[in-house]
Amino acid sequence: MSIAENIKKYTEEISPQATLVAVSKTKPNEDILEAYEAGQHVFGENKIQEMTDKYEALPKDIEWHMIGHVQTNKVKYMASYVSLVHAVHKLKLLKEINKRAKQEDRVIECLLQLKIAEEDSKYGMEGTEAEKILTSEAYSAMENVKIVGLMGMATFTENEAQIEQEFEFLKKQYDKLAEKHQFKYLSMGMSGDYKLALKHGSNMIRIGSSIFGERNY
Ligand SMILES: *Cc1c(COP(=O)(O)O)cnc(C)c1O
Repeated sequence: MSIAENIKKYTEEISPQATLVAVSKTKPNEDILEAYEAGQHVFGENKIQEMTDKYEALPKDIEWHMIGHVQTNKVKYMASYVSLVHAVHKLKLLKEINKRAKQEDRVIECLLQLKIAEEDSKYGMEGTEAEKILTSEAYSAMENVKIVGLMGMATFTENEAQIEQEFEFLKKQYDKLAEKHQFKYLSMGMSGDYKLALKHGSNMIRIGSSIFGERNY
């Protein structure tokens, strides 16, 4: 199927429960434009430099989501335009996003990444740490970032029961904090596990390879 057909298929399959983030990392601008012309306006990237190059070259009504691990010293390159940062993994990063957003006179929405997978390579904090940040004086003094939900990545495994457990755990953490902190987004689910994520209450799905094809790194 073409990129345009895939956009249509996944949008129909996950809506109205969830928003589709089309993960375009490593893919050329032509592919993004094809998806854009099929109606997709939310794209996810995992490298700030690459996202910024694409932002500059492509239509300005695209919403760019940074879904990858963010290095503090690179926040300044995306601060003027990024629409959602999915993977805030520590307070120090949030501070930097706040500082750079203030310079741009805007508020940047962020998600806290919780660690739900067993792999050490997957970043994230504990639920208790998320709660600590949300209720901290440091965060309440930040006027230019808003934490609007949680994000997580399940273990890469064939074991669906394990994936379901991890998503269920994340949903529980989300429910605990959602009302008090006016959460909007629970970002969980990728090409291989989005069905399980939907089943467990995700409302933001990040799909890359099933839309654009396998990535060649
Ligand atoms: C690459 C990536 C995705 C998309 O992965 P696919 O398996 O290609 O759908 C989703 N989330 C994050 C954080 C990613 O880095």
